[in-house]
Amino acid sequence: TPIQALLICGGGGSEHDVSLRTADFIEEQLQNVSDIALTRVVMDASGRLSDRNGGVHYLSQQRQLVAEDGSTRDVHYVVPAIHGYPGETGDLQSQLELFGIPYFGCGPEASKLCFNKVTTKLWLTALGIDNTPYQFLFSNSEEEIAKATMALRQWGAVFVKASNQGSSVGCFRVTNEEQMAEALTQAFALSPYVLVEKSLKVRELEVAAYRYAGELVITPPGEVCAPEDTFYSYEEKYAEASRARTFVEAQGLSQAQLAWIHEASKRAFAGLQLKDLSRIDFFLTDDGNIYLNEVNTFPGMTPISMFPKMLAHAGHNFSEYLSSLIRQAIA
Ligand code: ADP
Ligand code: MG
Ligand code: MG
Repeated sequence: TPIQALLICGGGGSEHDVSLRTADFIEEQLQNVSDIALTRVVMDASGRLSDRNGGVHYLSQQRQLVAEDGSTRDVHYVVPAIHGYPGETGDLQSQLELFGIPYFGCGPEASKLCFNKVTTKLWLTALGIDNTPYQFLFSNSEEEIAKATMALRQWGAVFVKASNQGSSVGCFRVTNEEQMAEALTQAFALSPYVLVEKSLKVRELEVAAYRYAGELVITPPGEVCAPEDTFYSYEEKYAEASRARTFVEAQGLSQAQLAWIHEASKRAFAGLQLKDLSRIDFFLTDDGNIYLNEVNTFPGMTPISMFPKMLAHAGHNFSEYLSSLIRQAIA
């Protein structure tokens, strides 16, 4: 009998729609795997799970998917394909741990640490991994806003980021005080904590770090190039009209730079106790500094996304990769 795997996508965050596209990819990858039967449900903002026909279900501690009419289907494994809350934030993984259901991806703690841009920075620093200069605002009070203004004066241009978003949601480039007020209002509307980072002129490098056949694979960095007049915003990430270009392998990096990125990725993967997969993003500045920008515990897998491309470029087959992880977890 096949392994019953449950794909949970969507979720209650701002990346709901992106998660559906990632789920399409995963579904396609497992479609022809004969020993794995995949059921797909979409989670809405209230946590309700529905199937394609609108049937509503819930996940029980008996490790079953229970339909409204009481009929059940066993769940041996879960693929939480949710960017942002409550998947990439680790909340769903906590529930799966509680129920004893194995799942794809990082655990609750690593997910929570990495999704939050403040805790990520604290951890990177603790692990001795360079990251961009920043100020931390814990409230929208006058005193805290003064810190942001100071940072803007010191650095000339800054990035204001809600601490609990991805896909560049709640992320703004700010070059004057008027923009600052607007950016802070919007960022604080999304998140209780906000980061103000020095805006750097950078090349954006990304590695895929994942476990394959028991080994940690760290790919050479790929590169994303946002258009000159903007940054790698939500639009540039997902819109049809995106002008961003991606390269599965970045060109012109020195051996020392490649080695630095490899080492930092390895250290981050081990130090943050990541599992199965992550995409680790770096900034390379004009003057040759490399900063780790963020660790994505559940990277995008849309047609333009880097993680699947880098995995394929490393000579691996995504379908094989995921199905072998599933079989291993069940065995
Ligand atoms: P998200 O988790 O939403 O992807 P990021 O921290 O990766 O948030 O920021 C989104 C994008 O904003 C980056 O890919 C980059 O294009 C730009 N960016 C963020 N921080 C900086 C910075 N300090 N300097 C220059 N560009 C930045
Ligand atoms: Mg992110
Ligand atoms: Mg990012």
